[in-house]
Amino acid sequence: MSDLSRQILHDVFGYPDFRGRQGEIVDTVAQGGNALVLMPTGGGKSLCYQIPALMREGVAVVVSPLIALMDDQVSALKAAGVRAAAVHSGTPPETVREIADDIVSGSLKLLYVAPERMVTEKFLRFLDSHRVSLFAIDEAHCVSQWGHDFRPEYRQLGFLAERYPQVPRIALTATADAQTRADIKHFLRLNEAAEFIASFDRPNIYYQVVEKNYGKKQLLDFIQKQMHGGSGIVYCLSRKSVEDVSAFLCENGLNALPYHAGLPMDVRAAHQQRFTREDNIIVVATVAFGMGIDKPDVRFVAHLDMPQSIEHFYQESGRAGRDGLPATSWLCYGMNNLMLLRERIQESGADDFQKNIELQKLNAMFDVCETAGCRRVPLLRHFGETSEPCGNCDNCLHPPSRFDATETVQKLLSCVYRVGQRFAAGYVINVLRGKDDDWIRRNGHDKLSTFGIAAEISDKNWRNIVRQCIGLGLLANDMNNHQALLLAPPARAVLKGETPVWLRPLKRDKAAVKTPKTEWLRTEREERLWQALRKWRIERAKAGNVPAYVVCGDRTLQDIVRQLPERLEQLSDIYGLGAAKIEEFGGEILAVCAEFAADG
Ligand code: ADP
Ligand code: ZN
Repeated sequence: MSDLSRQILHDVFGYPDFRGRQGEIVDTVAQGGNALVLMPTGGGKSLCYQIPALMREGVAVVVSPLIALMDDQVSALKAAGVRAAAVHSGTPPETVREIADDIVSGSLKLLYVAPERMVTEKFLRFLDSHRVSLFAIDEAHCVSQWGHDFRPEYRQLGFLAERYPQVPRIALTATADAQTRADIKHFLRLNEAAEFIASFDRPNIYYQVVEKNYGKKQLLDFIQKQMHGGSGIVYCLSRKSVEDVSAFLCENGLNALPYHAGLPMDVRAAHQQRFTREDNIIVVATVAFGMGIDKPDVRFVAHLDMPQSIEHFYQESGRAGRDGLPATSWLCYGMNNLMLLRERIQESGADDFQKNIELQKLNAMFDVCETAGCRRVPLLRHFGETSEPCGNCDNCLHPPSRFDATETVQKLLSCVYRVGQRFAAGYVINVLRGKDDDWIRRNGHDKLSTFGIAAEISDKNWRNIVRQCIGLGLLANDMNNHQALLLAPPARAVLKGETPVWLRPLKRDKAAVKTPKTEWLRTEREERLWQALRKWRIERAKAGNVPAYVVCGDRTLQDIVRQLPERLEQLSDIYGLGAAKIEEFGGEILAVCAEFAADG
């Protein structure tokens, strides 16, 4: 790895080391090579082209599809003392002229543009006569119709290869599947480019899944006990529940703000703004929220309902902990939730083939919720990675206990079989419990050998057993017949007594809620310094009209608390403080620290 790239990483961005393969990518592009980079959200894609941009002569042109994202990147770069600008539909003409002047004079290092502008002849003619250091194509999956964000202009970007053969190109995305990857290489002419595919693991995210009984209350408990004071996003399925949940959290003293498409534009913008700029806001939102929000210090993402696929879950939960510090993904799910999503798929206008794909995706998500093993293993398996149990999820830290339920499950499976696989769970349970019921009598099911065979198990517990059997793949719901229970092929071996069935305890043990390792504050004084630094950061951010994290990330503040610097020279060892930030804020940071050194 070149010394220069490391030095820029330290002096400008204030980081001690490259993450993963960042260093190799930087070197490849800095030396003029092309690269295709696949890295999960938060992996640190931006530095992969920002550092080469500083190492090479000329201006780096970055194509990015979202205005909000461009503006955030530009403010972060400016805060680090890098000359950067964005040109999009909202840029006033006189600013565009100033930017052009800076390119002519050679002082601008990075220019962010929307794809629409990138493909205009006027813009290209301007570029023709200036030195371009590299082209970075961010969110490169937008070339593919497989994804959800197809942008026709992205398809045209392949021409850059011919028009600027000397200029290295780097395409970056967090979307992993093989088809999208192939499209990127094809349309952007990157077949020969070096490929850098990072693991999709987000090791700092702690995964926690709970069964829903009273969702709002469970959510409040989670936030109050585990996440107090941190920024977070709560996802709900409907606008109504967004309103309801945010009001509930406010009543309980939290800074919650609703966000959904039914709110007026200015309210939405204001809420989004407060969320990105302040550091203790909880946004309660429908899944529309989050796209293009680049806030690194989100401490938790909570789902009050199960998402419809692992991809959705991964995207949404992945908005937590982009700064690499401990963060939590909390998910609350219930059987009704699963049924509702199934119905939605069934009733959608899609053809059977598509419906089948959607149902499989839904089941894969459900399996993550129901598994007794590590949560991360099935998540990563979904992205084609094999892994060992992670040690940082609820099931790894507190393995759920199991009991041998073979006999009980045999009764259930046998009863499903005897009623002809034509009845839903409620009915089957009534038969098992021997309920006095007209319908059962009319069907003659009160004469079955399984009638009343297990009345000692409550209705609620039976539902739990049914659900676990679905999760284990022993039972399935008949989509074409009102969710009637069907025997799945593995049920045979259970009925014949060849395979035992182990289930989770029917009553959840409440003790199994423990906080992941977020505790780092050691003393009372450190806690006060931390709060003082946060307060300083908020004031600084308001004064500069930038998000709090652009001033300093949480990890930087933590490092300051730990090291309690007294002199300016000591600040260059602080994580996240480069030369420009030290010059701008160094004095103020030392002043805040000094108060605490004195009173200690
Ligand atoms: P992505 O675009 O891949 O989602 P970003 O480029 O926004 O991710 O980076 C996410 C966060 O990680 C940012 O706050 C960034 O400053 C930080 N980061 C990136 N690279 C490093 C590194 N080598 N060391 C420490 N922090 C880093
Ligand atoms: Zn695990």
